[in-house]
Amino acid sequence: MELKERFVLRPKTTMRIGGIARYFAELMTKDDAEAALQYSGKQQLKFLPLGSGSNTIFADEVNALVVQVKHTITDVAGDMVTVGAGKNLAMLINELALLGLNLSALTGIPGTVGGAIFGNAGQGPKGVWIDSFVESVTVFDGAWKTLSQSECAFRYRESVFKDSEKPLLIWEAVLKLPKADPVAIKTTIETLLKKRIETQPHLKTAGSCFKAIGQTPAWKLIDAAGLRGYKVGGIEVSPKHANFLINVGEATYADAVSVVEAVQEKIPENLEVEMRFVEPDGTLRF
Ligand SMILES: Cc1cc2nc3c(=O)[nH]c(=O)nc-3n(C[C@H](O)[C@H](O)[C@H](O)COP(=O)(O)OP(=O)(O)OC[C@H]3O[C@@H](n4cnc5c(N)ncnc54)[C@H](O)[C@@H]3O)c2cc1C
Repeated sequence: MELKERFVLRPKTTMRIGGIARYFAELMTKDDAEAALQYSGKQQLKFLPLGSGSNTIFADEVNALVVQVKHTITDVAGDMVTVGAGKNLAMLINELALLGLNLSALTGIPGTVGGAIFGNAGQGPKGVWIDSFVESVTVFDGAWKTLSQSECAFRYRESVFKDSEKPLLIWEAVLKLPKADPVAIKTTIETLLKKRIETQPHLKTAGSCFKAIGQTPAWKLIDAAGLRGYKVGGIEVSPKHANFLINVGEATYADAVSVVEAVQEKIPENLEVEMRFVEPDGTLRF
């Protein structure tokens, strides 16, 4: 495992916000994962797993060891797929489509398999989430463990991985997929991508910033509070989709925090912050 010191995180996030991590490492093997966790323990540094940064932004200086799982090996046996947490989700969906295995319900969600499992990624509260395909997940938290689907405690945008105080490094997952005609899967993928292009901004964003607690979608609450298009510094509440924050210039972490606080002030109930805001000490802001 190669440790990089004072690593610039910005290019690792789709929103292009983030300063410097005290240490950064890419984890290719289980030995790398073990060495990295041991190092963070010795140095008393937070151990922060990062996928492809599509739901995460960082403060200007982060005193932590940020790690990225680069295990992407995919093994297919019938309808069972074992896949490394570092695998890009879109790539997996497309590769499986060619084999007649249907993961198309998750089309258009950026990020890695690990990030998707962590946040139980899916298409909205009533849609399909990744948990409906998960058979088991292998994690490392000082010991290697394989959790069954029920042990993952998946709920809407939640999981045991998100609940855990101690970081659980997601290493690989076993998915069970329905079979379908490859041409039909490809058509579904194209339809879902087209819908996304029409309804979501394709700019520097981290996707949905808030999660609604009640029945009213977050974007509707934000819209009703008159915050569509609200701007602080380089951060704007997207005019196209009011639950997306976009980086319209040289936005800073502080700009993004200010916008979230303004939304929270106007809408004190019914919203939780979904996006991951990593503070200087490696903890989460919201
Ligand atoms: C344009 C756009 C549209 C989006 N649409 C959707 C959508 O429809 N549905 C949806 O659910 N999400 C959506 N998102 C949000 C985001 O894509 C998902 O949350 C995605 O699953 C995050 O994956 P990632 O690899 O980028 O995770 P990151 O942002 O890198 O990390 C997210 C969290 O997962 C943790 N994590 C990542 N990898 C691991 C690992 N290997 N082990 C342990 N923890 C890990 C991180 O610590 C972090 O807390 C969207 C984002 C964008 C930018």
